[in-house]
Amino acid sequence: HRQRLMERGLPKKLPIAGVNQVIVVASGKGGVGKSTTAVNLALAIAANDKSKSVGLLDADVYGPSIPRMMNLAGEPELNKQNLMKPLVNFGISCMSMGFLVDEKSPLVWRGLMVMSAVQKLLRQVAWGPLDYLVVDMPPGTGDTQLSISQNIPIDGAVIVSTPQDIALLDARKGAEMFRKVNVPVLGLVQNMSVFQCPKCGHQTHIFGQDGAKKVAEEMELQVIGDIPLHISIRETSDSGQPVTVSQPDSPQSDMGCLAACLWP
Ligand code: ADP
Repeated sequence: HRQRLMERGLPKKLPIAGVNQVIVVASGKGGVGKSTTAVNLALAIAANDKSKSVGLLDADVYGPSIPRMMNLAGEPELNKQNLMKPLVNFGISCMSMGFLVDEKSPLVWRGLMVMSAVQKLLRQVAWGPLDYLVVDMPPGTGDTQLSISQNIPIDGAVIVSTPQDIALLDARKGAEMFRKVNVPVLGLVQNMSVFQCPKCGHQTHIFGQDGAKKVAEEMELQVIGDIPLHISIRETSDSGQPVTVSQPDSPQSDMGCLAACLWP
């Protein structure tokens, strides 16, 4: 089935109306900082070049975290064409399943409608005009991710991983999936790479050292970001004040660097 899905893909790619470039942020497994990266990447692209309009799509329909991270809530309004209007904060147009369903709605039901939900978030939203749409993908490399990669033209994929072996193994699968469907992989972001004690400054590589670099070399990918495990990244994400906007000059806000790396 999966092989057939892969073979069928390319001719059907249909651009999202009004969107110039689509960048997806993916990870092999959950909890590695994919959403944090997507949010801060979108903000960094916008901060890097103020003339660019940027959108953020939360395609992680099982665990939407964009509403909390971007400090947004409420139901989207419909425009005259019956398209949903994105909610906007920090200048970024956002859409998420979290705006459409109650957080407590049963997971089984979400599972049944996951594909049609993703389609609606892509196609029934008044996205345009946007220079960039950053898509926070669901974790893993299942059929949903594959179908998104085959349905819309994607200009580049950013893969997030911790330096830990298991996460990297999954990241490798992610990179392979994108390559199979001809989506260029822009590079690997190594998140939670080192913990620096806020009291004594001692550095600990909690999830191992340089794992992503080794995989990147093996797969001929670039490491385009190296983000420390830092309490302010967690705190600012949870409080809806992402580190890129609330602490733009701090070392832990190296996402600007990431954006500059992608668009020098
Ligand atoms: P994913 O989207 O991969 O599931 P999230 O971006 O939601 O992961 O991150 C999971 C949790 O880890 C969140 O609470 C987030 O604030 C925290 N987190 C992510 N990256 C870092 C980091 N570099 N330092 C500290 N906390 C982080």
